[in-house]
Order: sequence, then structure tokens, then C-alpha cells
Amino acid sequence: MTESWGRYPAAAHVAEFPLAWRSEARIPPVRPVLAYGRGRSYGDSCLNDGGALLRTSGLDRFISFAGGVVRCEAGVTLGEILEFAVPRGYFLPVVPGTKHVSIGGAIANDIHGKNHHRAGTFGRHVRRLELLRSDGSRKELTPGDELFAATVGGLGLTGLITWAEIALRAVPGPAVRSDAVKFAGLDEFFAISDESDAKSEYTVAWLDVLSREHRGIFYRGDHAAGTVKAPRARVTVPIDLRLVNGFTVRAFNAAYYLVQRTGSRLGHYDPFFFPLDAVERWNRLYGKRGFLQFQCVVPGPDSLKTLLDEIVRLGAGSPMTVLKKFGDLKSPGMLSFPRPGFTVAIDISSTEIAAFTRLEEVAVQSGGALYPAKDARMSAATFAKSYPRLDEFRRLLDPAFSSSFWRRVAP
Ligand SMILES: Cc1cc2nc3c(=O)[nH]c(=O)nc-3n(C[C@H](O)[C@H](O)[C@H](O)COP(=O)(O)OP(=O)(O)OC[C@H]3O[C@@H](n4cnc5c(N)ncnc54)[C@H](O)[C@@H]3O)c2cc1C
Repeated sequence: MTESWGRYPAAAHVAEFPLAWRSEARIPPVRPVLAYGRGRSYGDSCLNDGGALLRTSGLDRFISFAGGVVRCEAGVTLGEILEFAVPRGYFLPVVPGTKHVSIGGAIANDIHGKNHHRAGTFGRHVRRLELLRSDGSRKELTPGDELFAATVGGLGLTGLITWAEIALRAVPGPAVRSDAVKFAGLDEFFAISDESDAKSEYTVAWLDVLSREHRGIFYRGDHAAGTVKAPRARVTVPIDLRLVNGFTVRAFNAAYYLVQRTGSRLGHYDPFFFPLDAVERWNRLYGKRGFLQFQCVVPGPDSLKTLLDEIVRLGAGSPMTVLKKFGDLKSPGMLSFPRPGFTVAIDISSTEIAAFTRLEEVAVQSGGALYPAKDARMSAATFAKSYPRLDEFRRLLDPAFSSSFWRRVAP
């Protein structure tokens, strides 16, 4: 069964169409359809319960590379681009916490990374793309086109992206100079975050989410020259284990805070950007029933404190809680999630729906928003309130495309 990364909710697809050649790609007559990249979205934005999926992993060709701009098919992954580009002195302008994401998925969710304060979202670096609509037309879109703004962050609902052109950035090699600093509470976090954003390209914090004082570890880094070794082979979680529970989360958080090495190091980019990729199929640790990710952005320090206090009060434990200050570079998509403020991402068990709903309320009351790429639960009211360009977007939808997420939040 085709799943999203959180394995929640389940979806039954009536058909799946593997795509092979961009020039021969057609939208089949089944309705509704939806592109499926690598299924690294957590909730239901890549699912189409009762409908069909267009699998893009066969659209895996590089088309051209010149002047630091790569043109490739939409199923090429970020990891494949890095393998090609880093030995040539280039890096992707924005990477998320996993490299197993397709170009189509990166554009459709207008993803962000640890350098949001410097580079903004992925969509800001897309120079051109081709969109195949269900009427058979192929549209070449560039920034400034209305349909481009709808497609970037458009959740796959404007048609099928067949290829895209991305402007890469120059780097001295595969090395990253990084350091880690512990913080004992939010005031320290705010100070370290401001100081680090001014001097480092990549900044992000891990939070011991169950600690009342909101302690954590702040990571920052920059591309650097130097010889570094690529990471060793990965391990795989072979079966569903259901190892994550209240007890193991509390123990993990306390131990992680204590044993993490602080100080500076020169290392390969892979573990710095993609630490979770070292364990393949780690989503099995939550068991068959899957899990929810709650990722929101809230506008300021006070709303962040309110949200984190509420997480502690609810005991909504998560081993990997990520905290990052977004910058103010404008996101290009009508439905892009990143906006100025603080973003927090926590994993919670799929049985903790009440906690999720409470956190949704807190985030939205403060003027925040939830991230569709991670979402399986937000209400239609939340979506309408936090995505003010929704009506403008609706006019540009492709009528053949829909998703489980869309039918839930925009019925
Ligand atoms: C461990 C982990 C860490 C992550 N960290 C981050 C992070 O730091 N920042 C962040 O922003 N996100 C992050 N994500 C989320 C991930 O980057 C997004 O969900 C991304 O969109 C997944 O890409 P995908 O190829 O798997 O697409 P899918 O999940 O398969 O699909 C996502 C959306 O893209 C659409 N789509 C896919 N291909 C096409 C196409 N060719 N044409 C049109 N639409 C298409 C789908 O219809 C769907 O709406 C993380 C995910 C994981 C698992």
C-alpha cells in the first residue's frame, strides 16, 4: 500500500501510473489524479484516497547543466543532484532534513531548510519549469507568471511538473564547518539564534521538548574547504517496532542533551544536513499505526513561548523536535508555508489527536500556520485562516487533480 512518511492516514488508491519519459507523459482519464514523488510528506498531501497516483520516480534524467543551473526531470532527487553537483563545486540552494525528496515534491511544497534566513524557500531558486495540465497543454512557466506562483507550494494541484531548472550555489567542496552550543532556556535561544543568523548560513536547534525550561542544542554551520570522508553505510529498521513511547521519548531527550558533543568540527555535508537519513525507514519505529507531525510557524517570541509551554503541559513528547527562526525573505508561492516567525516541528503518536488539535488552536490563535507537507489533521477553518491567498489559488487549480489533504482542508 502506498503511504506517506508518517504512515497516517491510510489511503486506498484505485490506480497508480508509473511515468517514464517526460515527452510521453500524459494525464490518464481517471479522476482525480495526483503526482507522487518519494512520499516524504508526512500526512496526506501526497495521498489521493479513492483516486489515482502518478508516480514520478521514473522521471529521473538530468537534461542540462550550465553556469550553475541544472535542468532535470521532476523525479530526480535532491540526493542525486548533490552527488552530481558537489564534485563540480556546486550545492543545492536549499535542502530539507532528508535528501530523498524529488524536485517535483520540493517545488510543490516550496520546501525550506536551515538557511531560510539567507536563501528563503526552494521556490526562490527555480528559474523555469514545465507544467503538464490535464487538457494536454504543456506550459513553460517562469517567476512572475501567475501559474508559477500557484505551482510553487501548490501541493501538486495545478498539474504535473515534468522538469525544472534550479540555480545552484557555488561551494568549496563537500565539507561543512559546524558547531553546537547548548542553551538552557528560550532567552538564551533567542540570543544565540540572532547572533548565529548574522554570521552563519545554516542554523537550527534541537529542543528537549519535555523540559520545562525549554533547553536544547543550537547547531550552526557553513560550507568550508577541507578534505572530509563521506558517511559510512546506512542501517535499516527492518520491521515495525513501536519503540517510540512516552518513556523512551523522555529518556532519549534527557540522554541526547547530555551526550551531544558541543564545539566546532569539520565534517561531510551529509550528516550535518541529513542526520535522519542514516537510518533508513526510521518511520517504522512508531509502529504500524504511524505518527503525526505537527509543524507550525508562530509569529514571535511570546507566541513561541506559549506554544512550547502548552506542549510541556500536554506532555506531547517527541524525540526530534526542531526549532528554527524563519527570515523575512518572501516565499514565491501563493500557498507557501514559510513566513517570518519561529517554526517548531514535533512528532507525536497518531493516537494523540486531542493534543494535536489543541496545539493547532494555539498556533492559529497567535496568527501562525501549519505546514501542509507535514499535516494530516488541520481543519478547513485553520487552512482558510492561515493561507489568505486561497481563493486566488483556487482559480488556477487543474480540475483533474486533487488529494486527500485538499478534500479535507478545502472541501
Ligand atoms: C526526515 C524528513 C525531514 C524533512 N525535513 C524537511 C525540512 O527541513 N523542510 C521542509 O520544507 N520539508 C521537510 N520535509 C518534508 C519534505 O521535504 C516534503 O514533504 C517534500 O515535498 C517531499 O517530497 P517528495 O518527493 O517525497 O514528494 P511527495 O511527498 O511524494 O509529494 C509531496 C507533494 O508534491 C507533489 N508532487 C510531487 N511530485 C510532483 C510533480 N512532479 N508535479 C507536481 N506535484 C508534485 C505531490 O502531489 C504532493 O502534493 C522532511 C521530510 C522528511 C521525511
